[in-house]
Amino acid sequence: MDAIAHAAAHLRAGGLVAMPTETVYGLAALVRDAGAVERVFAAKGRPSTNPLIVHASSLEMARGCCATWTAEADALARAFWPGPVTLVLPKADWVPDVVTAGGRTVAVRVPRHPVALALIEAVGEPLVAPSANKSGYVSPTTVEHVRGVWSEAQVFVLDGGACEVGLESTVVAVGHDGLRVLRPGVIGPEEIERVAGRPVQEGGEGAGVAASPGLIGAHYQPQARVVLVERPEDGRAYLGESKAVFIGPPGGGVDAGAPHVAIAMAGDAAEYARNLYDALRQADAMEPSVIVVCVPEGVGPTWDAVRERLGRAAASR
Ligand code: AMP
Ligand code: MG
Repeated sequence: MDAIAHAAAHLRAGGLVAMPTETVYGLAALVRDAGAVERVFAAKGRPSTNPLIVHASSLEMARGCCATWTAEADALARAFWPGPVTLVLPKADWVPDVVTAGGRTVAVRVPRHPVALALIEAVGEPLVAPSANKSGYVSPTTVEHVRGVWSEAQVFVLDGGACEVGLESTVVAVGHDGLRVLRPGVIGPEEIERVAGRPVQEGGEGAGVAASPGLIGAHYQPQARVVLVERPEDGRAYLGESKAVFIGPPGGGVDAGAPHVAIAMAGDAAEYARNLYDALRQADAMEPSVIVVCVPEGVGPTWDAVRERLGRAAASR
């Protein structure tokens, strides 16, 4: 049996599968199987108040998870799927409450990673797939990040290489009263506005839907303390630390010198985003006294999403 067929059988039997997507690796279970979804929450240590994203292999399958589907949702889905945009709509009755954390809306998307699509196709029904990390930690973007966290008995791991995007999807609430970006991603509000033909609100506060975990300050956090600096020279203040790891700035790294370590970062936004979580994990694995990140200044949605994730990585817990 090939890996996809094996993973599909495991899911049908109530098991959990680590699945590559173009954003990050997800910890998948059948949406329909409330017990399996509960095991996803338990395995991650995820608060039961934090709803999951449903992953479908087609627009029709995604639509089947929603009680209502608007022309605007259709336009957004056709423009961005398969891809890193999640739409939040009223949930269909059959979707278990545990998936939506008891809420009346469901978050759905069609990922564009071929392994994710093949797996959902093989199962023939949608999957929940929150990031395949322990709740609050940095999301996994390579199969190495996934392995080691989960025992083989607990999770069947599918290898799909390094994630192409490397940051979580843009989450957009599609309401009758308007559109709101609940979590920024590489697809920015301007692109969404262009497709929808009306303005998009930013920020989840007051969105009238379940709060996005992205809204909880501390998230995507290494074990080590993370501090952000605006300019490389501001990092000098941390040279007195017992061991600082410096990440960036974009296009290079600071000139640190032992016992400190510098991790160079790309100047290109997409490449920076793709490598950010790996850099944070590499830094954390060195067990430094502090991780100092030089915040990129670039303009555009990918840089905005990078800065938002860095803000959460550095938020007080
Ligand atoms: P993760 O699975 O770790 O990528 O996180 C899923 C993201 O989707 C979080 O930011 C959730 O709050 C958000 N989300 C999922 N379902 C909903 C929903 N029904 N309403 C609002 N946000 C949601
Ligand atoms: Mg997550």
